[in-house]
Amino acid sequence: PHAVNRIAAGEVVERPASAVKELVENALDAGATRIDVAIREGGRALIRVEDDGCGIRAEELGLALARHATSKTDGADLLDIHSFGFRGEALASLAAVARIALTSRVAGAEAACIAAEGGRVGAVRPAALSRGTVIEVRDLFFATPARLKFLRGEQAEAQAVAEVIRRLAMAEPFVAFTLRDLTDGERLVIRLDAETPDLGDPREALRRRLRAVMGRGFSDGAVPLEAERDGHSLLGWAGLPAEARGAATAQNVFVNGRPVRDKLLLGALRAGYMDVLAAGRYPMAALYLECDPRLVDVNVHPAKAEVRFRDPDTVRGLVVGALRRALAGLRA
Ligand code: ADP
Ligand code: MG
Repeated sequence: PHAVNRIAAGEVVERPASAVKELVENALDAGATRIDVAIREGGRALIRVEDDGCGIRAEELGLALARHATSKTDGADLLDIHSFGFRGEALASLAAVARIALTSRVAGAEAACIAAEGGRVGAVRPAALSRGTVIEVRDLFFATPARLKFLRGEQAEAQAVAEVIRRLAMAEPFVAFTLRDLTDGERLVIRLDAETPDLGDPREALRRRLRAVMGRGFSDGAVPLEAERDGHSLLGWAGLPAEARGAATAQNVFVNGRPVRDKLLLGALRAGYMDVLAAGRYPMAALYLECDPRLVDVNVHPAKAEVRFRDPDTVRGLVVGALRRALAGLRA
């Protein structure tokens, strides 16, 4: 009976970083203002995500672990998606391939917890927690040893986890994030305090968060850009080209608040930089595209990194044009 869950688990959760992505997205969907993540041994031994979001009612804890149970859509229109989650797959997948403990509390009720292991879900029990949700995922893929073989070294996995958190944090300036590595004692890897909204200029908080994540090298030299076309609007910063490829999170594109690794957008980003790129240099930019959810299908890839636009030419033209104009200013 659990085979289906184990097979499907590979689609959503292929490594610790994808588990962290799903769990942090759940916390964001729950309206958290602070999210604390801890990992041990690259996330393989332990991933713990704590949030101060709305919590899960005790009577719904079991449902949260069930496949295709989601509180976020009525299933009527998968294209009209505003939250990160909508498939109800992540927790069921994790429960199938790891040992998990989910503890949660909604305002005005007692905390409760539930555990699951290799697809077997235990009973709901009372627990102690002041608010929000804590989920612990231990021994990822213990139930699917074949998957374990595909994991890279502990450090590479830990880096991928940090990368996932940084990318999500770049689109959520009002949420505080930490990442701790508990492998040898305790090491604070990421600490991003919540930015305060700046009523004068809503972009300011975003810019400050980008600076905190990407560093001064990006934010000091970057020029802002803003453009609109046929129901799509673009906001962002284009920085001086980076010296090294993969300089931590150098190319960042977001669609309706989600980090994506989309070929069309990354291609447009490179095209926009074409004129200013000397050999061996790489674009360094953060682009936030917003459009009606009906103009973009985020349902293409299980891990939601690829999207499909209804009007790709419009999007490409918008991005390339805005970058060219901004970068012309940068050179002048
Ligand atoms: P999805 O996010 O697609 O709905 P998940 O498997 O990720 O599916 O989560 C299942 C359900 O569990 C969610 O719909 C939500 O109701 C609940 N849930 C999961 N994580 C949290 C959290 N951190 N805070 C509040 N509710 C949560
Ligand atoms: Mg989810």
